Amino acid sequence: MDEKKAKEVWAKACEHLAEAVSADIFSRWIGVIEAAGDDAPGQLTLTVPNGFYQDWLEEHYLPMIRKALGAAGHEHIAIAFVVNDNGPAPAPATLVKSNEPAPAKRRGPKIYNVGGTLNPRHTFENFVVGPANTFAHAAALAVVDAPARAYNPLFIHGGTGLGKTHLIQAMGHALIKRGKGTVCYTTCEDFTNEFIQAVQQHELTSFRRKYRNIDLLLIDDIHFLARKEGIQEEFFHTFNSLHQNQKQIVMTSDRPVSEIANLQNRLVSRFEWGMVTEMEMVDLETRVAILRQKREELGIQLPDPTLFFIAEHVRSNIRKLEGSLLRVASYASLTRKPLTTEALEYLLRDTIEQENQTAVTLEGIQRIVAEYYDIRLGDMTSKQRPNNIAFPRQVAMYLCREMTEQSLPAIGNAFGRNHATVLHAHRSIGAKMKTDSSLRQTILSLQQRLGGAAAPV
Ligand code: ADP
Ligand code: MG
Repeated sequence: MDEKKAKEVWAKACEHLAEAVSADIFSRWIGVIEAAGDDAPGQLTLTVPNGFYQDWLEEHYLPMIRKALGAAGHEHIAIAFVVNDNGPAPAPATLVKSNEPAPAKRRGPKIYNVGGTLNPRHTFENFVVGPANTFAHAAALAVVDAPARAYNPLFIHGGTGLGKTHLIQAMGHALIKRGKGTVCYTTCEDFTNEFIQAVQQHELTSFRRKYRNIDLLLIDDIHFLARKEGIQEEFFHTFNSLHQNQKQIVMTSDRPVSEIANLQNRLVSRFEWGMVTEMEMVDLETRVAILRQKREELGIQLPDPTLFFIAEHVRSNIRKLEGSLLRVASYASLTRKPLTTEALEYLLRDTIEQENQTAVTLEGIQRIVAEYYDIRLGDMTSKQRPNNIAFPRQVAMYLCREMTEQSLPAIGNAFGRNHATVLHAHRSIGAKMKTDSSLRQTILSLQQRLGGAAAPV
């Protein structure tokens, strides 16, 4: 929309936003946004002072902005954040290094509501390689070098926030740059919606023409096909048509092929025809490297020990790792207070708590305790009772009771015992700890390994 209209729309949205947030938040985060004109109808371009604002707003305020636009009568408008290169930069002083080019220069607009847009930051250059993703990264590069010849299809799976979208979009950027043919990046959900719309509007022919005439289909979150018969059918034909014509297909999924619920067998087998590769959570070193790379990319100034603290505490998900970095950076720049351990613990308390909860499972405890006492995991559940096994088993039961929310019978079950055994073990270890300081030390150390709270002494 043109500039005049954009400013009008934005002013209306601001009226709603001013009611929704405190005056402080409004002036800090919303007041810096300006509406700008563009050529795209149905799109509102908003400029922000630098990349840090862009990230923070996208991460925290996008839903609220959308809602305000909806309340102002513009529900279906697409929002594009653009970093304002020319304007004054009321950037928080510690955030942008003055001797470096503004991160803004490296960014393009990011458009929402439009399926299939590649995030300009999801490139191979920005992708940090560590042991947990080396293989997937190498497979992705091989496909970029020789589409439809290296591995076809390429199927990348792994839990959320581990870099699947980043990697598949990096392939998209690289394939476009190298001019390897028509690239289509889409999510399975968008593909599905497009299909439904095509059916409703009797445009199935053009839908099929579109998807069967591309050279490289990158389809994100294919697990969305779970339990959806109709779209599985359509995708089966798309897949066949592309594959037979030696076109490359790349898919990501948050679980292995075999665990996508009710996936037709013929799709299961096809998805495993080429290369299947898994991404796992990266190790501590890689997490630090990712935080450093992100610090550089965003021009944030935070000392290394702070990055280490974040990397040590946020272990399950790279998206959370980035979120934590932004949170800490924002706090540092807005309050200018030193980042003490207490401040960091407070800032990241929710994330840390979640991490600890996810880390501590009955099986996890059994494994850590078995490792510690150098016995086999199977000994935890075996019927044998020699003391060198019985004692570690009691320790494990004690920890299960202390560190998880599981019921006594559930814990008993995990050890092939009943709830009374667990209760007895818990009491017995608890009593011994009162007099045995080395046992207290052992329990504390095990709890730390499990990422849990300090032991009651
Ligand atoms: P997924 O699709 O697996 O849920 P994403 O690809 O969206 O995860 O990754 C979550 C965030 O973590 C993104 O911002 C992404 O850029 C970042 N990220 C993931 N892996 C890496 C990596 N190896 N190097 C740098 N950033 C990464
Ligand atoms: Mg993803």
